[in-house]
Amino acid sequence: MSRFISQGALPRKSKQVVLRSARELEELRQAGQIVAQVLQEIAGEIGPDMTARELDARIDRSIRASGAVPTFKGYHGFPAASCISVNDAVVHGIPGDYRFRKGDLVSVDVGATLHGYVGDGAFTFLIPPESPEHRRLIAVTQQALAQGIAAAQAGRHVGDISFAVQATVEAAGFSVVREYCGHGVGTSIHEEPQVPNFGRRGGGPLLRPGMVLAIEPMVNAGQSAIWVEDNGWTVRTADGRPSAHFEHTVAITEAGPSILTEIRPDTP
Ligand code: MG
Repeated sequence: MSRFISQGALPRKSKQVVLRSARELEELRQAGQIVAQVLQEIAGEIGPDMTARELDARIDRSIRASGAVPTFKGYHGFPAASCISVNDAVVHGIPGDYRFRKGDLVSVDVGATLHGYVGDGAFTFLIPPESPEHRRLIAVTQQALAQGIAAAQAGRHVGDISFAVQATVEAAGFSVVREYCGHGVGTSIHEEPQVPNFGRRGGGPLLRPGMVLAIEPMVNAGQSAIWVEDNGWTVRTADGRPSAHFEHTVAITEAGPSILTEIRPDTP
């Protein structure tokens, strides 16, 4: 789940970045693995004739079956376990009675809290038949996430992540959403620092081992401008063109970025 970007000075307390111990990183990985599994499970299930509410119920059950709780439910009053944002919806869509259709672009954002630690991840699915524009938008957003993660190296800065995402997106002729951003993740869903999807190399806080960040490009096929529905949540593109959203929770380690929300085969 993305965070509303705060432009002004933040209170000192909220600026503190928490560095997680090896034990805490393992807890965060376990929460992240639940997010990864849920997103993998639903990949084969999203299709026409399913409603967003039904998909959310499936996600809710799956998170709880893993022994975790859905982080988003009740967060600032959010009513569901997942954010489901279709086509021109960017993020924070409230799952309702909308019935998926052929050709839809469906962004699903999932949070799971296990033993007090949070995993946060999102994936954008395509319901066939896939339009070339949708396919390209998804490919570029995934590439932007990969480039952002690759820049998440100890000794560099948050701005290096932001720059990598923005440069990838804009080189493809798409635009990044500027009102919402990635964020620290730990024992709550939104911690410091903010991780914008635009910025300059070397800007922002220093990346240090033990930092855990949700990196989450929100990419519009058209212009970057957005508006928010009267429900206070659902963010949509101003021009009505589609938007995609991919997110991983990533730990900064001495050995490089470690993706906590990606299923990795057990290594012997
Ligand atoms: Mg997030």
